[in-house]
Amino acid sequence: MVYLDNNATTPLDPAVADKMTAYLREHFGNPSSLYPIGRAAKDMINEARENVAAALGAPKASVYFTGSGTESDNQAILGVLDALPDKKEFVTSTIEHPAVRETALYLESKGYRVTHVPVDATGTIDLDALRDAVTPQTALVSVMHANNEIGTIEPIADVVRIAREKGALVHTDSVQTFGKIAFRVDDLGVDLCSVSSHKIYGPKGVGALYVRKGTPIRPFLHGGHQERGLRAGTENTVGIVGFGEAARILPLRLEEDKIRLTRLAGRLKSGLEAAVPKIRFNGHPVNRIPSTLSCAFLGLESEAILLSLATLGIYVSTGSACSEDSDEVSHVLTSIGLRPEFARSTVRMSLGRFNTDDDVDIVLRELPGIVTKLRKISTWDPDEF
Ligand code: PLP
Repeated sequence: MVYLDNNATTPLDPAVADKMTAYLREHFGNPSSLYPIGRAAKDMINEARENVAAALGAPKASVYFTGSGTESDNQAILGVLDALPDKKEFVTSTIEHPAVRETALYLESKGYRVTHVPVDATGTIDLDALRDAVTPQTALVSVMHANNEIGTIEPIADVVRIAREKGALVHTDSVQTFGKIAFRVDDLGVDLCSVSSHKIYGPKGVGALYVRKGTPIRPFLHGGHQERGLRAGTENTVGIVGFGEAARILPLRLEEDKIRLTRLAGRLKSGLEAAVPKIRFNGHPVNRIPSTLSCAFLGLESEAILLSLATLGIYVSTGSACSEDSDEVSHVLTSIGLRPEFARSTVRMSLGRFNTDDDVDIVLRELPGIVTKLRKISTWDPDEF
Protein backbone atom coordinates (compact mmCIF):
# COMPACT_ATOMS: atom_id res chain seq x y z
CA MET A 1 0.00 0.00 0.00
CA VAL A 2 1.15 3.51 -0.81
CA TYR A 3 -0.86 5.79 1.47
CA LEU A 4 -0.90 9.38 0.24
CA ASP A 5 -3.95 10.66 2.08
CA ASN A 6 -2.41 11.80 5.35
CA ASN A 7 -4.50 15.00 5.41
CA ALA A 8 -7.59 12.78 5.69
CA THR A 9 -6.14 10.74 8.51
CA THR A 10 -2.79 9.32 9.59
CA PRO A 11 -1.87 5.81 10.66
CA LEU A 12 -1.24 5.33 14.39
CA ASP A 13 2.37 5.76 15.40
CA PRO A 14 3.46 2.38 16.85
CA ALA A 15 4.47 4.10 20.12
CA VAL A 16 0.92 5.49 20.38
CA ALA A 17 -0.59 2.06 19.77
CA ASP A 18 1.66 0.57 22.51
CA LYS A 19 0.68 3.23 25.01
CA MET A 20 -3.04 2.81 24.26
CA THR A 21 -2.86 -0.98 24.44
CA ALA A 22 -1.08 -0.86 27.80
CA TYR A 23 -3.68 1.59 29.07
CA LEU A 24 -6.59 -0.59 27.91
CA ARG A 25 -5.12 -3.66 29.56
CA GLU A 26 -4.33 -2.03 32.89
CA HIS A 27 -6.89 0.72 33.47
CA PHE A 28 -10.61 1.13 33.36
CA GLY A 29 -11.38 3.63 36.10
CA ASN A 30 -13.68 6.57 35.56
CA PRO A 31 -11.51 9.71 35.74
CA SER A 32 -14.22 11.39 37.86
CA SER A 33 -14.02 8.71 40.60
CA LEU A 34 -12.16 9.76 43.70
CA TYR A 35 -10.60 6.38 44.58
CA PRO A 36 -7.18 5.32 43.24
CA ILE A 37 -8.14 3.76 39.89
CA GLY A 38 -10.16 6.89 39.06
CA ARG A 39 -7.29 9.13 40.12
CA ALA A 40 -4.94 7.09 37.93
CA ALA A 41 -7.14 7.69 34.89
CA LYS A 42 -7.37 11.40 35.71
CA ASP A 43 -3.58 11.59 36.07
CA MET A 44 -3.14 10.06 32.63
CA ILE A 45 -5.51 12.61 31.13
CA ASN A 46 -3.53 15.38 32.76
CA GLU A 47 -0.26 13.97 31.49
CA ALA A 48 -1.78 13.96 27.98
CA ARG A 49 -2.95 17.55 28.52
CA GLU A 50 0.60 18.57 29.41
CA ASN A 51 1.92 17.03 26.19
CA VAL A 52 -0.70 18.65 23.96
CA ALA A 53 -0.19 22.00 25.72
CA ALA A 54 3.59 21.77 25.34
CA ALA A 55 3.24 20.98 21.62
CA LEU A 56 1.04 24.08 21.24
CA GLY A 57 3.30 26.22 23.42
CA ALA A 58 0.30 26.82 25.69
CA PRO A 59 -0.31 26.65 29.44
CA LYS A 60 -1.73 23.28 30.47
CA ALA A 61 -4.87 24.84 31.93
CA SER A 62 -5.79 26.36 28.56
CA VAL A 63 -6.20 22.98 26.79
CA TYR A 64 -9.56 21.17 26.79
CA PHE A 65 -10.11 17.73 25.27
CA THR A 66 -13.04 17.26 22.88
CA GLY A 67 -14.37 14.49 20.65
CA SER A 68 -12.78 15.73 17.39
CA GLY A 69 -11.40 18.67 15.48
CA THR A 70 -14.95 19.26 14.29
CA GLU A 71 -16.21 19.48 17.85
CA SER A 72 -13.39 21.85 18.80
CA ASP A 73 -14.38 24.16 15.92
CA ASN A 74 -18.06 24.03 16.87
CA GLN A 75 -17.32 24.57 20.56
CA ALA A 76 -15.04 27.51 19.85
CA ILE A 77 -17.49 29.32 17.59
CA LEU A 78 -20.82 28.51 19.22
CA GLY A 79 -19.33 28.81 22.70
CA VAL A 80 -17.90 32.30 22.19
CA LEU A 81 -20.99 33.63 20.44
CA ASP A 82 -23.18 32.23 23.21
CA ALA A 83 -21.00 34.00 25.77
CA LEU A 84 -21.20 37.34 23.93
CA PRO A 85 -24.95 37.73 23.29
CA ASP A 86 -24.69 41.43 22.46
CA LYS A 87 -22.42 40.88 19.46
CA LYS A 88 -24.23 39.32 16.53
CA GLU A 89 -21.53 39.22 13.85
CA PHE A 90 -19.18 36.42 12.85
CA VAL A 91 -16.44 36.66 10.21
CA THR A 92 -14.75 33.74 8.48
CA SER A 93 -13.10 32.87 5.15
CA THR A 94 -14.54 31.21 2.05
CA ILE A 95 -12.20 28.20 2.26
CA GLU A 96 -12.88 26.84 5.74
CA HIS A 97 -13.35 23.16 6.52
CA PRO A 98 -17.06 22.20 6.77
CA ALA A 99 -16.65 22.12 10.58
CA VAL A 100 -16.39 25.93 10.48
CA ARG A 101 -18.22 26.63 7.22
CA GLU A 102 -21.38 24.79 8.16
CA THR A 103 -21.32 26.17 11.69
CA ALA A 104 -21.26 29.61 10.04
CA LEU A 105 -24.25 28.68 7.87
CA TYR A 106 -26.09 27.52 10.99
CA LEU A 107 -25.36 30.87 12.64
CA GLU A 108 -26.70 32.66 9.58
CA SER A 109 -29.92 30.66 9.87
CA LYS A 110 -30.17 31.85 13.48
CA GLY A 111 -30.01 35.51 12.43
CA TYR A 112 -26.31 36.26 12.84
CA ARG A 113 -24.61 38.47 10.27
CA VAL A 114 -21.90 36.23 8.81
CA THR A 115 -19.25 37.49 6.39
CA HIS A 116 -17.26 35.02 4.29
CA VAL A 117 -14.06 36.85 3.36
CA PRO A 118 -12.65 35.86 -0.06
CA VAL A 119 -9.19 34.49 -0.82
CA ASP A 120 -6.92 35.16 -3.81
CA ALA A 121 -5.83 32.65 -6.46
CA THR A 122 -3.24 31.18 -4.08
CA GLY A 123 -5.87 30.62 -1.39
CA THR A 124 -4.59 33.44 0.85
CA ILE A 125 -7.21 35.51 2.67
CA ASP A 126 -7.78 39.06 1.37
CA LEU A 127 -6.71 41.15 4.37
CA ASP A 128 -8.29 44.36 3.03
CA ALA A 129 -11.63 42.59 2.66
CA LEU A 130 -11.16 41.21 6.16
CA ARG A 131 -10.56 44.71 7.51
CA ASP A 132 -13.80 45.86 5.85
CA ALA A 133 -15.71 42.88 7.25
CA VAL A 134 -14.77 43.19 10.93
CA THR A 135 -16.84 45.72 12.88
CA PRO A 136 -17.21 46.57 16.58
CA GLN A 137 -20.20 44.19 16.51
CA THR A 138 -18.00 41.25 15.46
CA ALA A 139 -17.74 38.75 18.29
CA LEU A 140 -15.36 36.33 16.61
CA VAL A 141 -13.19 35.92 13.52
CA SER A 142 -12.39 32.33 12.51
CA VAL A 143 -9.75 31.74 9.82
CA MET A 144 -8.07 28.39 9.30
CA HIS A 145 -4.32 28.12 9.86
CA ALA A 146 -3.79 26.07 6.70
CA ASN A 147 -6.20 24.67 4.17
CA ASN A 148 -6.73 20.92 4.08
CA GLU A 149 -7.25 20.71 0.30
CA ILE A 150 -4.55 22.97 -1.13
CA GLY A 151 -2.17 23.42 1.82
CA THR A 152 -2.01 27.24 1.76
CA ILE A 153 -0.95 28.70 5.12
CA GLU A 154 -2.93 31.77 6.17
CA PRO A 155 -1.37 34.93 7.69
CA ILE A 156 -2.98 34.39 11.10
CA ALA A 157 -0.89 37.00 12.94
CA ASP A 158 -2.20 39.63 10.47
CA VAL A 159 -5.75 38.33 10.90
CA VAL A 160 -5.37 38.75 14.66
CA ARG A 161 -4.01 42.29 14.30
CA ILE A 162 -6.97 43.32 12.15
CA ALA A 163 -9.53 41.65 14.42
CA ARG A 164 -8.03 43.29 17.53
CA GLU A 165 -8.43 46.77 15.98
CA LYS A 166 -12.20 46.26 16.33
CA GLY A 167 -12.09 44.29 19.58
CA ALA A 168 -12.98 40.92 18.03
CA LEU A 169 -11.71 37.57 19.31
CA VAL A 170 -9.94 35.15 16.95
CA HIS A 171 -10.22 31.40 16.48
CA THR A 172 -8.04 29.36 14.14
CA ASP A 173 -8.51 25.81 12.95
CA SER A 174 -4.99 24.39 13.17
CA VAL A 175 -6.01 20.81 12.46
CA GLN A 176 -3.82 20.71 9.34
CA THR A 177 -0.80 22.57 10.73
CA PHE A 178 -0.44 20.86 14.12
CA GLY A 179 2.49 18.50 13.67
CA LYS A 180 3.32 19.77 10.18
CA ILE A 181 4.75 23.22 10.86
CA ALA A 182 6.21 24.60 14.09
CA PHE A 183 4.03 27.19 15.80
CA ARG A 184 3.10 28.39 19.27
CA VAL A 185 -0.36 29.78 19.99
CA ASP A 186 1.24 32.94 21.40
CA ASP A 187 3.11 33.58 18.16
CA LEU A 188 -0.19 33.36 16.29
CA GLY A 189 -1.83 35.52 18.96
CA VAL A 190 -5.18 33.72 18.69
CA ASP A 191 -7.71 33.30 21.49
CA LEU A 192 -8.84 29.83 20.44
CA CYS A 193 -7.19 27.08 18.41
CA SER A 194 -8.53 23.68 17.32
CA VAL A 195 -6.43 20.56 16.81
CA SER A 196 -7.19 16.89 16.17
CA SER A 197 -5.44 13.69 17.24
CA HIS A 198 -5.88 11.58 14.11
CA LYS A 199 -3.93 14.01 11.93
CA ILE A 200 -0.83 13.63 14.13
CA TYR A 201 -0.57 9.81 14.21
CA GLY A 202 -2.93 9.53 17.19
CA PRO A 203 -6.34 7.82 17.41
CA LYS A 204 -9.55 9.09 15.83
CA GLY A 205 -12.41 10.60 17.83
CA VAL A 206 -10.40 12.95 20.02
CA GLY A 207 -9.45 16.58 19.59
CA ALA A 208 -8.46 19.54 21.70
CA LEU A 209 -9.37 23.18 21.95
CA TYR A 210 -6.95 25.81 23.21
CA VAL A 211 -8.79 28.64 24.98
CA ARG A 212 -6.71 31.63 26.04
CA LYS A 213 -7.21 32.44 29.73
CA GLY A 214 -10.07 34.91 30.20
CA THR A 215 -11.76 34.20 26.83
CA PRO A 216 -15.56 34.28 27.25
CA ILE A 217 -16.91 30.85 26.28
CA ARG A 218 -19.87 28.67 27.21
CA PRO A 219 -20.22 24.90 26.82
CA PHE A 220 -22.68 23.50 24.34
CA LEU A 221 -22.85 20.08 25.98
CA HIS A 222 -24.58 19.96 29.35
CA GLY A 223 -24.75 17.36 32.06
CA GLY A 224 -21.24 16.91 33.41
CA HIS A 225 -18.38 18.79 35.00
CA GLN A 226 -15.64 17.13 32.94
CA GLU A 227 -12.96 19.29 31.31
CA ARG A 228 -13.64 21.94 33.94
CA GLY A 229 -17.22 22.24 32.80
CA LEU A 230 -16.51 22.98 29.13
CA ARG A 231 -17.02 19.46 27.78
CA ALA A 232 -19.57 17.36 29.61
CA GLY A 233 -19.40 13.58 29.26
CA THR A 234 -17.08 10.87 30.56
CA GLU A 235 -13.75 11.35 28.84
CA ASN A 236 -12.53 9.14 25.98
CA THR A 237 -9.66 8.25 28.27
CA VAL A 238 -7.80 5.80 26.04
CA GLY A 239 -8.18 8.18 23.09
CA ILE A 240 -6.82 11.06 25.13
CA VAL A 241 -3.91 8.91 26.33
CA GLY A 242 -3.10 8.10 22.68
CA PHE A 243 -3.44 11.74 21.64
CA GLY A 244 -1.10 12.72 24.48
CA GLU A 245 1.51 10.23 23.33
CA ALA A 246 1.22 11.44 19.72
CA ALA A 247 1.65 15.02 20.98
CA ARG A 248 4.69 13.99 23.08
CA ILE A 249 6.35 12.58 19.95
CA LEU A 250 5.32 15.52 17.76
CA PRO A 251 8.00 18.09 18.74
CA LEU A 252 10.67 15.38 18.68
CA ARG A 253 9.83 14.50 15.07
CA LEU A 254 8.49 17.73 13.62
CA GLU A 255 11.65 19.18 12.08
CA GLU A 256 12.91 15.86 10.75
CA ASP A 257 9.46 14.97 9.33
CA LYS A 258 9.16 18.41 7.73
CA ILE A 259 12.55 18.27 6.02
CA ARG A 260 12.00 14.72 4.78
CA LEU A 261 8.43 15.34 3.60
CA THR A 262 9.41 18.58 1.86
CA ARG A 263 12.02 16.63 -0.07
CA LEU A 264 9.67 13.72 -0.90
CA ALA A 265 6.80 15.99 -1.98
CA GLY A 266 9.24 18.07 -4.03
CA ARG A 267 10.42 14.92 -5.82
CA LEU A 268 6.85 13.86 -6.46
CA LYS A 269 5.88 17.28 -7.80
CA SER A 270 8.84 17.74 -10.10
CA GLY A 271 8.62 14.12 -11.27
CA LEU A 272 4.98 14.59 -12.23
CA GLU A 273 5.66 17.93 -13.89
CA ALA A 274 8.33 16.28 -16.02
CA ALA A 275 6.28 13.20 -16.94
CA VAL A 276 2.69 14.45 -17.30
CA PRO A 277 1.68 17.23 -19.69
CA LYS A 278 -1.12 19.66 -18.85
CA ILE A 279 -1.11 19.46 -15.08
CA ARG A 280 -1.39 22.32 -12.68
CA PHE A 281 -0.64 22.53 -8.96
CA ASN A 282 -3.01 24.52 -6.77
CA GLY A 283 -2.28 26.57 -3.67
CA HIS A 284 0.40 29.02 -2.61
CA PRO A 285 3.84 28.29 -4.13
CA VAL A 286 5.72 29.14 -0.91
CA ASN A 287 3.38 29.69 2.06
CA ARG A 288 2.17 26.14 2.13
CA ILE A 289 2.26 22.86 3.98
CA PRO A 290 4.99 21.19 1.97
CA SER A 291 3.52 17.69 2.25
CA THR A 292 0.19 18.61 0.59
CA LEU A 293 0.05 18.48 -3.21
CA SER A 294 -3.17 19.50 -4.96
CA CYS A 295 -2.87 18.76 -8.66
CA ALA A 296 -5.32 19.23 -11.54
CA PHE A 297 -4.94 16.62 -14.31
CA LEU A 298 -6.66 18.61 -17.00
CA GLY A 299 -9.28 16.82 -19.04
CA LEU A 300 -9.86 14.00 -16.55
CA GLU A 301 -12.29 13.31 -13.72
CA SER A 302 -10.37 12.98 -10.48
CA GLU A 303 -12.47 9.95 -9.44
CA ALA A 304 -11.18 8.01 -12.45
CA ILE A 305 -7.59 8.68 -11.38
CA LEU A 306 -8.35 7.88 -7.74
CA LEU A 307 -9.97 4.54 -8.61
CA SER A 308 -7.23 3.56 -11.07
CA LEU A 309 -4.58 4.27 -8.43
CA ALA A 310 -6.60 2.45 -5.77
CA THR A 311 -6.60 -0.76 -7.82
CA LEU A 312 -2.79 -0.63 -7.51
CA GLY A 313 -2.97 0.01 -3.75
CA ILE A 314 -2.13 3.71 -4.07
CA TYR A 315 -4.49 5.87 -2.01
CA VAL A 316 -5.07 9.56 -2.74
CA SER A 317 -8.17 11.71 -2.49
CA THR A 318 -10.13 13.87 -4.85
CA GLY A 319 -9.63 17.53 -4.23
CA SER A 320 -12.82 18.31 -6.04
CA ALA A 321 -15.54 17.09 -3.71
CA CYS A 322 -16.48 18.46 -0.29
CA SER A 323 -16.33 14.87 0.82
CA GLU A 324 -15.80 11.67 -1.08
CA ASP A 325 -19.52 10.94 -1.19
CA SER A 326 -20.57 14.30 -2.59
CA ASP A 327 -20.27 15.44 -6.20
CA GLU A 328 -20.49 19.10 -5.37
CA VAL A 329 -17.47 20.98 -6.69
CA SER A 330 -15.11 21.94 -3.87
CA HIS A 331 -15.82 25.36 -2.38
CA VAL A 332 -12.07 25.75 -1.83
CA LEU A 333 -11.16 25.22 -5.47
CA THR A 334 -14.06 27.43 -6.55
CA SER A 335 -12.89 30.14 -4.12
CA ILE A 336 -9.41 30.23 -5.64
CA GLY A 337 -11.05 30.80 -9.02
CA LEU A 338 -10.47 27.37 -10.54
CA ARG A 339 -12.77 26.60 -13.46
CA PRO A 340 -15.17 23.75 -12.56
CA GLU A 341 -13.56 21.38 -15.06
CA PHE A 342 -10.15 22.04 -13.47
CA ALA A 343 -11.62 21.53 -10.01
CA ARG A 344 -13.19 18.24 -11.06
CA SER A 345 -9.80 17.02 -12.30
CA THR A 346 -8.00 17.79 -9.05
CA VAL A 347 -6.37 15.09 -6.96
CA ARG A 348 -4.89 15.66 -3.51
CA MET A 349 -1.79 13.75 -2.48
CA SER A 350 -0.76 14.29 1.13
CA LEU A 351 2.39 12.70 2.50
CA GLY A 352 3.10 11.72 6.07
CA ARG A 353 5.68 10.36 8.51
CA PHE A 354 5.61 6.81 7.15
CA ASN A 355 6.03 7.60 3.44
CA THR A 356 9.31 6.70 1.80
CA ASP A 357 11.25 7.35 -1.41
CA ASP A 358 9.93 4.00 -2.64
CA ASP A 359 6.36 5.34 -2.37
CA VAL A 360 7.27 8.34 -4.53
CA ASP A 361 9.01 6.05 -7.04
CA ILE A 362 5.89 3.86 -7.30
CA VAL A 363 3.59 6.83 -7.92
CA LEU A 364 5.98 8.28 -10.50
CA ARG A 365 6.10 4.89 -12.20
CA GLU A 366 2.32 4.34 -12.29
CA LEU A 367 0.55 7.68 -12.45
CA PRO A 368 1.85 9.09 -15.79
CA GLY A 369 0.71 5.91 -17.59
CA ILE A 370 -2.71 6.04 -15.93
CA VAL A 371 -3.17 9.66 -17.03
CA THR A 372 -2.15 8.86 -20.60
CA LYS A 373 -4.52 5.88 -20.73
CA LEU A 374 -7.45 7.79 -19.26
CA ARG A 375 -6.89 10.76 -21.55
CA LYS A 376 -6.99 8.43 -24.57
CA ILE A 377 -10.52 7.36 -23.67
CA SER A 378 -11.73 10.78 -22.53
CA THR A 379 -13.19 13.38 -24.86
CA TRP A 380 -10.84 16.14 -23.75
CA ASP A 381 -9.31 18.57 -26.18
CA PRO A 382 -5.76 19.44 -25.05
CA ASP A 383 -5.91 22.74 -26.95
CA GLU A 384 -8.78 23.83 -24.76
CA PHE A 385 -6.49 23.97 -21.73
N1 PLP B 1 -10.51 21.10 10.24
C1 PLP B 1 -9.70 20.75 9.24
C2 PLP B 1 -8.90 21.80 8.54
C3 PLP B 1 -9.61 19.42 8.84
O1 PLP B 1 -8.81 19.08 7.82
C4 PLP B 1 -10.39 18.45 9.52
C5 PLP B 1 -10.37 17.05 9.10
O2 PLP B 1 -10.17 16.73 7.94
C6 PLP B 1 -11.20 18.88 10.58
C7 PLP B 1 -11.24 20.20 10.91
C8 PLP B 1 -12.05 17.92 11.33
O3 PLP B 1 -11.31 17.16 12.26
P1 PLP B 1 -11.93 15.81 12.80
O4 PLP B 1 -11.80 14.80 11.70
O5 PLP B 1 -11.09 15.46 14.00
O6 PLP B 1 -13.34 16.08 13.16
